[in-house]
Amino acid sequence: MEHGFSDDYHSFSDALITWYRTHGRHDLPWQREPNVYHVWVSEIMLQQTQVATVIPYFERFIAAYPEIEDLAAASIDEVLHLWSGLGYYSRARNLYRAAAVVVSEHGGNFPRSLEDLLTLPGIGRSTAGAILALAYELPFPILDGNVKRVLTRRYAVHGWPGTTAVLKRLWTLAERLVPQNGIREYTQAIMDLGATVCTRKRPRCGACPLRRECKAYHSDQVSTIPTPRPRREIAERDVVFLVIQNKTGAILLQRRPLEGLWGGLWSCPEIAQESELVGSLASLGFQNLRIHQRLSSLKHSFTHIRLNIHPLLIHADGITNQVREAVDLCWYSGEDSLKIGVSAVVPLLLKSLRSRSYREICYDENG
Ligand code: SF4
Repeated sequence: MEHGFSDDYHSFSDALITWYRTHGRHDLPWQREPNVYHVWVSEIMLQQTQVATVIPYFERFIAAYPEIEDLAAASIDEVLHLWSGLGYYSRARNLYRAAAVVVSEHGGNFPRSLEDLLTLPGIGRSTAGAILALAYELPFPILDGNVKRVLTRRYAVHGWPGTTAVLKRLWTLAERLVPQNGIREYTQAIMDLGATVCTRKRPRCGACPLRRECKAYHSDQVSTIPTPRPRREIAERDVVFLVIQNKTGAILLQRRPLEGLWGGLWSCPEIAQESELVGSLASLGFQNLRIHQRLSSLKHSFTHIRLNIHPLLIHADGITNQVREAVDLCWYSGEDSLKIGVSAVVPLLLKSLRSRSYREICYDENG
């Protein structure tokens, strides 16, 4: 049955803006003193992350680095420390690199053109559009996850939005829908609608300003659009973590390479299998250490790989060996001891080591 669908793009933006004025979010921390730096940091943090999670991270980040020059002058360890727990750490590394470029090549002023923005690390077309629309009020579209969901449902676009053909169609739609006036409110409105009404699960169509012309709603396809991402195999990898603990309870951490899993974060030295243990300990400056205990295995999933982590507790107390002096090694006893970003398993391991069960076992075996 037809419902008089209209391609009146003005009514789309008008309906959203009117809805936003009453029902949108107006007091998010990055909206209080809107400037391009705040818009950029918030947009990067909001990628694949919900607003409620981002708010405390954003506030801590801006308190530490009030201006882009402060971020550019920081150390990557401090930045990753503030990012710890937010995940997708390449975002933090790119933010840091982009800050350095903006300061060194643009005199601290964010570019105002799409082309220049796209040259900055970590800024794709949607983030660039958000910066241009929200900070500079220029009529550029965005196409983040929320907007993709709204558009695919409103226009009944089939096919997984990750494919080139679907993406192209969505960008075309997004471009046509951009209003010439009120771009800031419109952009905020479509993001808010996707986050609070046209949600992935149980959308509130009854409260939606687009319902009258929404094709998915009228054809009863809301639960099947957008087409989900095809299932993909998640690879598994077994790794051995060396939990080398000194007599103060601190454990030895090693900085991971900037690229790859937990890039730039500090974590336990890692080997592929136990047969590499002696050589690895020697390269760290230890000799004659032995495995004290095999700790419970941990699993940690990334988007494309799952790690099965087998931690080996190795005590360094009473041993005269000195850990080799190196910039990529440190002793770490908890969040307050050093301002560095650590992998997600480090706090878990420290907590386990402090727990009664492990202490008892350790002391028993030491005894
Ligand atoms: Fe989304 Fe429902 Fe609104 Fe359509 S009517 S845009 S499915 S919330």
